[in-house]
Amino acid sequence: MLGKKRKVWGIDRQVLEMVNESAKQSLPNEFVAAMRAEDGVISELLFLPGTIQGQDNATLFLHMLPIDYSVVGTVHSHPGPSNHWSGADLQLFRRFGNTHIITKLPYDMHSWQAYDMEGNKIELEVVDLD
Ligand code: ZN
Repeated sequence: MLGKKRKVWGIDRQVLEMVNESAKQSLPNEFVAAMRAEDGVISELLFLPGTIQGQDNATLFLHMLPIDYSVVGTVHSHPGPSNHWSGADLQLFRRFGNTHIITKLPYDMHSWQAYDMEGNKIELEVVDLD
């Protein structure tokens, strides 16, 4: 897509691998984490202690986050075949940053989709950080 680059334009491959692994381990439930970016690349997941199950708890969990401006959005898994957002997901997106990822079964490198806070699909470049 032409136009200026988004503030957050990439994601570290290792972060995606961690997302896939966490999603698999959380089955049959969802997994959710906050994402941190550095220089426009999502480079870290922020896990908080506790068990996260379902959308309401996910939202509660995110309210426990410290105010941290390197947090750019959220990632969560769907234990099903769709990586499209639900109404509850969209509410989550609007409250916690401008870059969000949803992944679906089978949780591989083709399972994920990134969205902005309005739920529009966005492209993120997969980056190999050292
Ligand atoms: Zn969802």
